[in-house]
Amino acid sequence: MDDTYDGILLGSGHNTLVLQAYLGRAGLKTLCIDRAHVAGGGLSTVEDPRHPGFLHNTHSFYHRALNQMPWYRDLELAQRGAVYIEPEFNVALVLREGRVLQWWTDFEKTVESFAQFSRKDAATLRRWRDEFAPIVQKILGPESQSPPIPTDRRIALLSRSKEGRRLLEVSTLSPSEFVEREFEHPTIQAGLLFFNGLREVDLRCRGFGHHIAALIASSGKAQMCRGGSAALARALVDAVQSSGGTIRLQTTPKRILAENGRAVGVETTDGQVFHARSFVASGLNPQQTFLELIDGSLLPLEWRDKARAFKYNLIAPLFALNLNLTEPPRYTAAQTHPELGKALMVILGLEGLPQFPEMVRHHEAGTIPPTIMWGSCPTQFDPTQAPPGKHTAFMWEKLPYRLHGDAANWDREKDSHGRAMLELWSQYAPNLRDAVIDSFTRSALDTERTFPNMREGDLLVGAFTHGQIGYDRPFPGAGHYRGHIDGLYLCGASCHPGGNITGLAGYNCAQVLLNDLSLPAPWAPPLVEQALLKI
Ligand SMILES: Cc1cc2nc3c(=O)[nH]c(=O)nc-3n(C[C@H](O)[C@H](O)[C@H](O)COP(=O)(O)OP(=O)(O)OC[C@H]3O[C@@H](n4cnc5c(N)ncnc54)[C@H](O)[C@@H]3O)c2cc1C
Repeated sequence: MDDTYDGILLGSGHNTLVLQAYLGRAGLKTLCIDRAHVAGGGLSTVEDPRHPGFLHNTHSFYHRALNQMPWYRDLELAQRGAVYIEPEFNVALVLREGRVLQWWTDFEKTVESFAQFSRKDAATLRRWRDEFAPIVQKILGPESQSPPIPTDRRIALLSRSKEGRRLLEVSTLSPSEFVEREFEHPTIQAGLLFFNGLREVDLRCRGFGHHIAALIASSGKAQMCRGGSAALARALVDAVQSSGGTIRLQTTPKRILAENGRAVGVETTDGQVFHARSFVASGLNPQQTFLELIDGSLLPLEWRDKARAFKYNLIAPLFALNLNLTEPPRYTAAQTHPELGKALMVILGLEGLPQFPEMVRHHEAGTIPPTIMWGSCPTQFDPTQAPPGKHTAFMWEKLPYRLHGDAANWDREKDSHGRAMLELWSQYAPNLRDAVIDSFTRSALDTERTFPNMREGDLLVGAFTHGQIGYDRPFPGAGHYRGHIDGLYLCGASCHPGGNITGLAGYNCAQVLLNDLSLPAPWAPPLVEQALLKI
């Protein structure tokens, strides 16, 4: 068997698969290896082994504006079976007293719902949407779809235009300051901060105030993949294989091999050696790539120290309760809001702003905060995810990784916490008391066991904070997808623009890698520098 490739990729997360598919289209012969038994990383849909036909998305489910991604179009993923559903009623925040704050794909309907809580806030929402839509379109969108530029250069370029200056000005606030300054109603404030929290940015951290304005202005809403998130993984695998790429599963890298300061291959834990003529690209985290897989003598101490210091998100870990049901949850609040039955995401337990600092305090202490949870009943929109007439549903909650100081405690406590979540859920949707056929829970420790790159259960694979964003992600010096040794690249969620199912780290890495190899990338957008110069 020929074990020499143009390049070897580590980990088959969606970012790596996006990269591999573009490399194949450029004529490169590539091999991707992954320790898992199925490709796609966080694009995972599993069948309940006790109840065939019930499918559960154990990692990602909400794919934001996925069918607007450039790689979704370029790699023809719709034709390969990744079809997206975007329910009009996108998000419902259900309050104890039965009122519902609503986000719709139709902005006017969202404004209408906000106005029922505060007319002033509804007007503020519109004002921010109008002001930030061009900023999202001309600046933040192009920035996410291109390799980042050094921070000083970015600030200089943004300072040239009105929109750029406004973005820099709003950024100086923290998300909490932004929300408290701009909005008055506690439910609206809490709802907006919750969304920001889903992106895992520390609400107290200055420099991220623009996140909420961008969220308000973005036309991209939560979508779900028909057949489950794994349908996107299968489409990506098809794109890779039809461009000549190879994926080997249940194959774990032991060492990245280097000769004369250049990455030349990978040795696996079972002793196989794969040779790389041009590159090795890692979709793993910085500690795995630079500390576990590369001989210490090949990297300067400073680089290793920076990799060691790469931080994970305290509040990112998720706890999941998954249900097989005889019927969908029927919320009491639907008596006054019948549309609730059609909401994609439902948020429960969120009543006001003081819950946020309380949640952070619990995460720091390793204790369980009062439950705020959010989830969906996927089968209401896609009946293929359960046997005929039956349903699946899930709720997620942000809970600390080190429960009472030790993540191992989750194995003892997860079932009882799952029962507590179901009890709370049933208070909002009483039919759940009789509708559950089966259930299972997953803790942040389960996440880390499945995907060790999601260290400490951090599903974004690295905190989104100063020194770890843009040109400095994963750390200063490594923010251009190159990994110090010639021919070594980084392409996972630890790189710009970060975690979640965006595929953009892989998309941007493909631009850098093909450019370094002097191969054409006719699909690549203009460099972000050019986009910013044009404003
Ligand atoms: C419970 C949960 C819910 C989530 N929900 C959402 C959501 O709704 N929307 C959203 O956008 N995102 C969500 N995410 C986050 C999203 O799944 C990740 O941010 C995203 O998958 C990261 O993509 P990636 O391409 O970097 O690689 P990953 O998806 O992290 O894949 C990494 C791959 O590397 C492999 N790997 C790891 N270590 C090794 C090793 N040592 N050797 C070989 N292979 C290795 C793994 O097996 C895996 O296949 C969720 C995550 C979790 C855990």
